[in-house]
Amino acid sequence: MDQVVASRRDGSGAGKALDIVPGAPAGANEGASSASHARRSAVDPPVRDPTAYAFTDHFLDRVTQPGRYVTFDAVREAIVHGQLRWSTTDGWRFAYTDDGVRYVIVVEDTETPSPVVVTGWTEIVDPEAARTARRFDATDVETIELRSALSARSEERIPDEIRPREVDRPFTVGNHRVRTDIGDGYVVCADCNGRFRSKATLTTRHCR
Ligand SMILES: [Zn+2]
Repeated sequence: MDQVVASRRDGSGAGKALDIVPGAPAGANEGASSASHARRSAVDPPVRDPTAYAFTDHFLDRVTQPGRYVTFDAVREAIVHGQLRWSTTDGWRFAYTDDGVRYVIVVEDTETPSPVVVTGWTEIVDPEAARTARRFDATDVETIELRSALSARSEERIPDEIRPREVDRPFTVGNHRVRTDIGDGYVVCADCNGRFRSKATLTTRHCR
């Protein structure tokens, strides 16, 4: 999973809630207002106010990358309506499913008045629903499936999982913009023509 933590983006906290209320109860309930920052801990559910969150450079890079499908609208929906998940290793994430696609949004610093969206990605949970959604075409669905497969076992070569996929619009993974034809057990970079079978090589080998 893409969970490299980038530095906080300076000046991107416009509209951030700083309304700490002295004496607000600790252990805020899910859905509590942003006024409950006082005495929050890392395990308190993050606030459901999208305007309270800044974005890391890591996240902002990804929003603009072709084939990633995480949008600011999706982030907003996930924070307001998404299912909250806590893990002791990864902290808090919001998961929001729409048109068969799950948007996973990872947040940090949620116990502070300056929470941040660290990273996000998409997963296909219902291929049929995704394919019939107006916003996605077959290539979009294939792209999300292929990216998930590469990320799930990033250190491994996965030719058998790449082979059935067909993605003719290049999408960015690591340093490369890749596509693949059905039957090929690799993705190929549109810029350097390199062939890759794992996410690890895509993220460590330079392009051109
Ligand atoms: Zn390349």
